[in-house]
This record gives sequence, C-alpha cells and structure tokens, in this order.
Amino acid sequence: MSTTKKSHLVCLLLILLLNASCTSAQTTRPEAEKKLARDIYKEFVEIQSGFSTGATTPVAEAAAARLRTAGFSESDIFVGGANPKKANLVVRFHGTGALKPILLLAHTDVVEAKREDWSMDPFQLIERDGFFYGRGTGDDKAQAAIWIANLIQYKKEGFKSDRDIIVALTADEEGGGPYNGVAWLLKNHRDLINSEFALNEGGWGESVGGKRISNDLQVSEKYVANFRLEVRNKGGHSSMPVADNAIYRLAAALQRLSNFGFPLKTNEVTAAYFQEMAKIETGPMKGDLAKASKGSQEGMQRLAVATPAWNATLRTTCVATLLEGGHAMNALPQLAAATVNCRVLPEDSVDYVQTTLQKVVADDQVSVKILGEPSPGPASALRPDVLAAVSHATEALWPGVPVVPIMVMGATDGKALRVAGIPTYGIQGIFFDRDDIRFHGRDERLGVQSFYEGHAFLYEVVKMLSKTVPVARIRH
Ligand SMILES: [Zn+2]
Repeated sequence: MSTTKKSHLVCLLLILLLNASCTSAQTTRPEAEKKLARDIYKEFVEIQSGFSTGATTPVAEAAAARLRTAGFSESDIFVGGANPKKANLVVRFHGTGALKPILLLAHTDVVEAKREDWSMDPFQLIERDGFFYGRGTGDDKAQAAIWIANLIQYKKEGFKSDRDIIVALTADEEGGGPYNGVAWLLKNHRDLINSEFALNEGGWGESVGGKRISNDLQVSEKYVANFRLEVRNKGGHSSMPVADNAIYRLAAALQRLSNFGFPLKTNEVTAAYFQEMAKIETGPMKGDLAKASKGSQEGMQRLAVATPAWNATLRTTCVATLLEGGHAMNALPQLAAATVNCRVLPEDSVDYVQTTLQKVVADDQVSVKILGEPSPGPASALRPDVLAAVSHATEALWPGVPVVPIMVMGATDGKALRVAGIPTYGIQGIFFDRDDIRFHGRDERLGVQSFYEGHAFLYEVVKMLSKTVPVARIRH
C-alpha cells in the first residue's frame, strides 16, 4: 500500500474512532502555548546541568514550580534522586484509568560545554538566523520543555484522558553511572513511572537541504561498550631510547584500529529503514539504498562512505576517545593507554567485539579490557496504536513525509526501560539537517520552526495515544 493511501486509511479510522479531524491540524500551537513552551525551554537551557559539573535539581525544581502554578497538586509532583544535585522530576496527570499509564521521558543533564569552545555562551538560549543555540537545545531540553508545556496545556483545557500521563525529567543520561535517573526511579520508585509504554528521545525528523524527508520512530538502539587498550613497559632514561616503547606500540595499535571497519550488515529495523529511504531519496544514492536494504555489500559500502550516520547504521563502530601515557618528559613511558568507545549493533555480542579488537590490535603486549558491564537491550515491538498516532500526526503536519522505524546509533535511557519491560519509542517530530547534527558538539542548535512543530506534533500524538482506541482495528 502506498504511504498516501495508508495514511488516508489511518486518517479515516481515526475519524471514526476518535472523532479526530484530519484537516484541521495546525503546524504550530497558538501563540500563548508557544510562548509558554519557549519560556520553559529557555529556563531549562540556561540552567547549567552539565553531566560532571552541573546539577539537574534546579531543572526539576523549575519544572515543579511551573506545574504548581498550573494547578497540579503537590501529591502528583515528585522531586528526588540518587544525590542532592541529581534530582529527577515525576508528575502525573490523572486520566480515567481505562488504559494503563503512558510515560513521557526526557533527560535534563547535558554534555559539558566550554565557553571558549563555542561561538557564544552555551548556557544562554540565543535565537539567531532561525535557530535556537545553546547546550541541550537539541539533546534533550526541547523535549523536556515540550512535555511540561503540553501537560500544563492538557490541564488548562480540561483534557479528558483515558490513561494517566506521566512526565519524567531525569538526571544523568549522558554519562550513565550511579546517579542515572531512570535506573534510580526503576529501582526505588517504580510505581511512579510504571506504564504501558514510553515515549522518549532517540527518534527525530530528518531533513536534507531544508526538505523534510522522514519522521523517524526509534524502536531499537545500539549499545555502548568501552574498552581500555593498555601497554606497560619497564621504561628507562629517555637519553637511551630502545625500540620497545609503550607509546609507539599503542600508537601502532590505534593506527591499525583506525584502518579497520567492522563488517557491514543490516537487521530487521535497518533494512526497513533503508527500504523506506530508497523510496523517498531522489539523489544518486537511491539505487544504493535499495540495494543495501536487500543486503548488497556493494550498496552498503557506498552508503557507509556517503555519510557517517549511514556508516554507523550499518556496522558496529569503535573509536579511540581518550589517551594517557608517560610520566615524565625525560623518561621512557612505562604506560600508554587509550579508551576505545564502541557503539555495538544489538545483534553483536560484547565477546565478539572484544575478540575482534584483539585481532585488529594484533599485539599481545597491548591488552584489551572491557570497562564496566555493557548490556544489550531488546527492541520494542512496533505497537499499532503508536504507529497509527505517529503516522496520523505526521501526515497532518507534513503531508507526504513517511514515518520510518529506526535503530539509533547513540544510546538512550530507553534501553533501561525496555530491559525493565516498558516498551519505549523514540519520537520527537523535531527535524534536524541529517548532515548537521550538533548534539554533544559546539554551537548546538535546533531550528526555531522545528521546535514549535515538534511541540504541536507531540501535543497531538500524546492526546491520540491517551484515548481509548480499539487497537486491533487500526491495521496497516
Ligand atoms: Zn540525549
């Protein structure tokens, strides 16, 4: 069935089932709602919640204050976490209870940003040339602000939900570790976030040259495995160098790693992704996308070269991210070590990655040790109600833009929820230029129009998912 026919069918069913309208959808919400969303966004971005130097507690408290002002009762607002600086916020908007709750998740910590690395102050929301600039504008404070703004709006308009809508703004997604808000909530307050399924970051809209080409729905993700490559040596005086040098050995091993690529392959989700992309791509890559979706090595190879994002979709990647070594300017190094950060396809095991790294390094003086305990996460089954709501809202806002199920390269808190039995979908409806993703980098930004469209999109999606829908009847 064609995408257009399919969305018309979804539309018809939704009209019948929900009294939804397929023609009146707005691209953005009314001005007063946009202003509230922007104010909350600005407040969140300007709180320094850097993973290692900042605190998420002021973000949780700012959100709580907004919710109290909007009339949410104290008993429905929870602020707490693993550490006084790392608080999470959980708020509940009550529904009739006909359906189990939905959880709307966003993290409030950000990757560190140094003023000297940026063209502007990273902790000020600056609107310039059609973009919002600031650390966290994309990852993940837009979604955090939108969840809160929309929840306040649902309350204001007296929305009758058939399920509780829970928003959780959580700490320490970026670095994981002992204060991760989702892990802490699952362990200590599972009742607060227990839900039928969750919506989270991880799926956004892709545009190329200003044209929206797909609205991505994330159903699985790569997992992270970090390794330490280490060389030890007896060292000596630097005035009498010898051939066996820890730094040179490590450098040679890293050089071999830089020339290596894991095998290219697709899985169920990425094959579907490339198939959809082949339908909408008009450029020279169209043929290769179709070939790659059918497992052609040639096609995959050309895609991998074309963009880092496709490369990362097609294979496990490992890259050196930290270096240490030597102890004095005039001594031969006794230690040289590197951290290698791997983003592993869900079907590849940790053992396989470690064994492969050992083969690539090809030097028994270079040890390859796993750091921490990496754990792969399951994919979420594609729920018909989620797909229908996302497809409907996408068609209403951006006619003709397909919804594409994806596996993401980064890792999110969605994995912890999936492992805990709460299927989690990455969906934002916020569009980014596919070749200019600045999350974690300098001058992070998000298009102003994209922000307001994501705001309107998520408003609709959550409402649709919060009404009693005979799921079995929405088939496509
Ligand atoms: Zn994020």
